[in-house]
Amino acid sequence: MADLGPMPVSMSMGGYTDANRAFLQAFLARSVLTLETAKPVIAAISTVRDGREVQAQDITVDDLNHYISAANRKLSPLDLEIRSTFHQQTRERVYGLVNTTSDPLTQLATTYTADEIIYVKKLLDAMFDGQNNKGRREAMCLSGIEAIQVGRAQNRRETQDGNENATQPSAAGMLGARDAEAMLNKLLDEGWLEKSRLGFYSLSPRALMELKGWLVETYNEEDEDGQRRDKIKFCHACKEIITVGQRCPRRECSCRLHDICTQNFFRMQRSQTCPICKTEWDGQHYVGEKAITTSESYQSGRRRSGHRPRVDPGAEHSGDGND
Ligand SMILES: [Zn+2]
Ligand SMILES: [Zn+2]
Repeated sequence: MADLGPMPVSMSMGGYTDANRAFLQAFLARSVLTLETAKPVIAAISTVRDGREVQAQDITVDDLNHYISAANRKLSPLDLEIRSTFHQQTRERVYGLVNTTSDPLTQLATTYTADEIIYVKKLLDAMFDGQNNKGRREAMCLSGIEAIQVGRAQNRRETQDGNENATQPSAAGMLGARDAEAMLNKLLDEGWLEKSRLGFYSLSPRALMELKGWLVETYNEEDEDGQRRDKIKFCHACKEIITVGQRCPRRECSCRLHDICTQNFFRMQRSQTCPICKTEWDGQHYVGEKAITTSESYQSGRRRSGHRPRVDPGAEHSGDGND
């Protein structure tokens, strides 16, 4: 073979170069990348650096990893790091900029107003500690209407934590419908929230990476009887946080599995039963918006409002990213 083709991009890397600088700047501008969205970025940078055209399809995951590890060496003194996680539904690897030390809500203070930050906190409370994450309704998402209503709700946790009789209900974080909607759009744009086709807001992979520790600390607790009340749960197969997927048919069992993790898991286990309580796993008990959309009350509500009834709600893929 005479022509070995162009040198792989990763092999031509030296120290921290203009190319690395350009990559980090491009990453900071986007906050989130996948291999697919990184390819044209790295191809453009390589084209300039090498003085010849580099195609996006020539960029490999190794090239991306080289750029990310170089970027992380620069980010580490700033307590920032590019980490990756899998999207719970598409299984695509998502790279996001994560704050490694400070409280994630405090960190928002640089870009959001105090009222907006309290609104975000109330959104999280409503997602993880409200009616949509209680009992069988393990939805951990909010409809558009619910997300806007949060803007008009009082800051529940704050008034609860203080002396209830002495504390006046707080008006902090009260956003009117228009402001709440603008804030939701901002959170979508910046990759903190995802909106499903049916209009439900949920946390994005980026938000879950950034907030995982904080969510566990805030919403998982023992009650007075020493019983665990874990609102934030983890997939039994991949051990990652789960906000959309399946749950054990036995209500009191804590086993959860991502949809994408089930097939492999049950094949390895050689039986389609719950690994904890051995109940037969029917795949009909949901975590995420399906916990709402498969309910009879939701379906009849949609029929009343003129939507075509869906005969088999299980067949429809839910929550496929931004609209
Ligand atoms: Zn999993
Ligand atoms: Zn079980």
